[in-house]
Amino acid sequence: MRSPAHVLILGGTTEARHLAAALADRPDLHVTSSLAGRVARPGALPGDVRIGGFGGVEGLTAWLREHRVDALVDATHPFAEAISANAAEAAQAARVPLLTLRRPGWQAGPGDTWHSVASLAEAAALLPELGERIFLTTGRLGLSAFCGRELDSLHFLVRSVEPPEPPLPPHAQVVLDRGPFTVEGETALLREHAIDVLVTKDSGGAATAAKLVAARHLGLPVVVVRRPACPQGVPVAADAEAALEWLLTVAHRP
Ligand code: NAP
Repeated sequence: MRSPAHVLILGGTTEARHLAAALADRPDLHVTSSLAGRVARPGALPGDVRIGGFGGVEGLTAWLREHRVDALVDATHPFAEAISANAAEAAQAARVPLLTLRRPGWQAGPGDTWHSVASLAEAAALLPELGERIFLTTGRLGLSAFCGRELDSLHFLVRSVEPPEPPLPPHAQVVLDRGPFTVEGETALLREHAIDVLVTKDSGGAATAAKLVAARHLGLPVVVVRRPACPQGVPVAADAEAALEWLLTVAHRP
């Protein structure tokens, strides 16, 4: 019998967790999930887990070689741009097949007022004309984009899983919370803080989509930061099932 093929999943997302769970009981595959180590208590994952950066492209290439990885799945967050670029380069250098597992982005529907922007800086520039009380859900990093003088009079409600990295805008209240969120809960939060603009990245997925429905119900504008492009030439799967299908075609190739 052939030895199990070694699959490395670059994780930190719900999709990565789903894929690790889908592969866990297969005798033909051995799974290692890799986490950056940003979250204090990431929760148990099936299969092996390694935590922390690899040390750039060279480090990841060496890891792929040393651990005889047969297939690499980049299931990191759509906005985790650096690790995805590293994965593309390292996979090529180590000649390991690579798949990007990326959940689809959100789509505006009837009744939505969305402003699509390319960056946090562009989002910040739009805010003064949209409102005064801002619900900022773009994560714990990059909040310095909202610290410009022209935004000093705005009030921010900042929500993130881990405490946000300073600097923060002068009028900022922080709530630490992790999805999944409900439409009822999000509507209550928006009302309680008299929010008039929502700012989000186009993270996609069900766990944090309720805020968009709540904003629609309340008629609030939403500033949506577009995703960076996936690395060129890398196949993309939208869910764990499609990723498994791909894995079964490549993992045991000689
Ligand atoms: P990033 O900017 O793309 O990556 C920065 C560095 O962190 C990488 O160069 C790599 O270090 C290390 N790293 C990132 N993901 C890793 C992984 N899965 N395993 C091992 N090392 C990893 O990433 P980020 O935006 O800070 O995100 C970090 C992690 O949080 C990712 O795993 C991502 O899936 C998750 N996450 C990110 C967001 C977001 O909005 N960006 C949201 C939710 C979850 P080395 O160069 O030393 O290898």
